[in-house]
Amino acid sequence: MLRHTIAGLLWAGIAAAAGPPAAEVTAELRYLQHSGWLVKTASHVLVFDYVEAMPGGTALSAAAALKPEDLDGRSAVVFVSHGHVDHYSPAIAEWARRQPTIRYVVGWPDSHLPEAHVMKPRETWSPGDLVVTTTGSTDEGVGFLVSVDGLILYHAGDHARWSDQDAEAFEAEIRWLEGRTSTIDLAFFPIATGAACDPRPSIWQGVRFAALELKPRVLIPMHVQCLDKLDLYERFRSAMGTELGPTAVVAPTVVGERFHYEGDHLTRVGVARTGEDYDEPPKIVKHTTPVYPPKSFLVSRLRVVKSIPGLDEATLKCVAQWRFIPAKKAGLPVESIASAPVTFRITKKKP
Ligand SMILES: [Zn+2]
Repeated sequence: MLRHTIAGLLWAGIAAAAGPPAAEVTAELRYLQHSGWLVKTASHVLVFDYVEAMPGGTALSAAAALKPEDLDGRSAVVFVSHGHVDHYSPAIAEWARRQPTIRYVVGWPDSHLPEAHVMKPRETWSPGDLVVTTTGSTDEGVGFLVSVDGLILYHAGDHARWSDQDAEAFEAEIRWLEGRTSTIDLAFFPIATGAACDPRPSIWQGVRFAALELKPRVLIPMHVQCLDKLDLYERFRSAMGTELGPTAVVAPTVVGERFHYEGDHLTRVGVARTGEDYDEPPKIVKHTTPVYPPKSFLVSRLRVVKSIPGLDEATLKCVAQWRFIPAKKAGLPVESIASAPVTFRITKKKP
């Protein structure tokens, strides 16, 4: 009998490396809402598609909304993929009053943002401290590939495989992008339609295609504007399972959520790593149970701790199908790292 141990990180996202990890790269991320993200690198703060109040929707809570101090101290670059109301608030022009060095990079010509740098699809802009390359979009505007402080990220804007008719145009941009970069740390893609928040299969099919082509270390789903449907992110992550190979999906759960990126891992801030960090340990749901309890999750990242050549792949495949109940702290689920010993019995084949 052989014992084989694997550690799995439960419930939330941590990436596996696509290629050697970039050891020194760190970033702080905050999910704003819809497709809005804040990314802080060593000397820059990047904002993508920031909308404080969605038309007909709820405004960002004070805790989640950007404050002037979020943009101070580092070189601020504000990206707006296109001019739709769910991606662009003209009010962000105000930020330049507080910080005149702020730079706006936009994917359409008439934003009226102060001194905005306008980019068309498939262009590159290198002002010296960062490099920005745009892709086209199956909707309006552009997607942004940004390389800054050692971090490479792609924010797709509204570039998605919205319907089967978009397949060709969507895939062409992804293939073009693939030829522009050998690595992507973080890739952000829409997974649902705008107002209806409909997670169409055609959209998910496109994101799957993009992940397999681009092999980003971490894929972050976005573009769910219905605040009562943010569980779509976790549903997407769960549905992808281990299909995306080395790419890990990290699903935001609430507006304002913070993440830490280091090397090749994106960790929800507050992840429980040891028994001291949680009150209730994660539990394996008996993996032969045909109907899983509703609050069970797949493992987001697997790593072989003690390798047994020839059996690693089978073990990873097996544990990837297990379901877990997350660890809990103060009654609330937290992500955690756990090891799962897997036992193999070697039997003689019956003649
Ligand atoms: Zn949109």
